[in-house]
Amino acid sequence: MAFELIPLPAFRDNYIWLLAGSKTAVAVDPGDATPVLEALAKRQLLLAAVLVTHHHADHAGGAAILAARFDCPVFGPAGEAIEAVNQPLREGQQADIPALETRFKVLEIPGHTAGHIAYCGHNIVFCGDTLFSAGCGRLFEGTAAQMSRSLAKLSALPDSTAICCGHEYTVANLRFALAVEPDNRDILDYAEDAAELRSRNLPTLPSTLGRERRVNPFLRCGMPDVVNAAERHAGHELRNPIEVFAVIRSWKDTFT
Ligand code: ZN
Ligand code: FE
Repeated sequence: MAFELIPLPAFRDNYIWLLAGSKTAVAVDPGDATPVLEALAKRQLLLAAVLVTHHHADHAGGAAILAARFDCPVFGPAGEAIEAVNQPLREGQQADIPALETRFKVLEIPGHTAGHIAYCGHNIVFCGDTLFSAGCGRLFEGTAAQMSRSLAKLSALPDSTAICCGHEYTVANLRFALAVEPDNRDILDYAEDAAELRSRNLPTLPSTLGRERRVNPFLRCGMPDVVNAAERHAGHELRNPIEVFAVIRSWKDTFT
């Protein structure tokens, strides 16, 4: 079945992803039900399922309203208490969506929250607030070691994988990426393209994993330029990519 992948802007900078077939659609991380209901009405689609990546309200807040309206399943992480979720999923399990003749495989990717999951399928990954374009989520409930393991898991997907994340943070993330790697030509080029898209109020997403591997400092913790920048920032030597990750993550927390 052919799908259309549509980012629906919500709140200040969230995206709710709509994966639309010809008659039905799936909504990913509907923090707000309204933009989803509007998009479904406009396209005359029914909702077949809701997928939730983690418990934060800006991702799960509209799930109950949508599930009640369409009487559809709500998939979500088994490791988190989310009211609306009636199909809890663990690593390796699948979100089955018969109406779209499709299924998404679950990866557990803790770090931003303790039970955060991603959904992969059709060369797409819905990764919530774990991997952003040119950035990654803050460590609210996990350690640097957990988050770097989670990012490594996502990074093992094919280069062509579409990265569908939860927020439009790309332009600000690229400013930080340039502070880490001022000479990285791919970051400079992408920063120009992203600024141009945002000036027309267009999404910079989805990205691709291949691009993220070239521009995202959090996926580049083993690259000499990133290691050197992190060591300069820390003021001492760093022994492994997890230490490098921890330094650039906390550096970004205070970067303006
Ligand atoms: Zn979040
Ligand atoms: Fe979020």
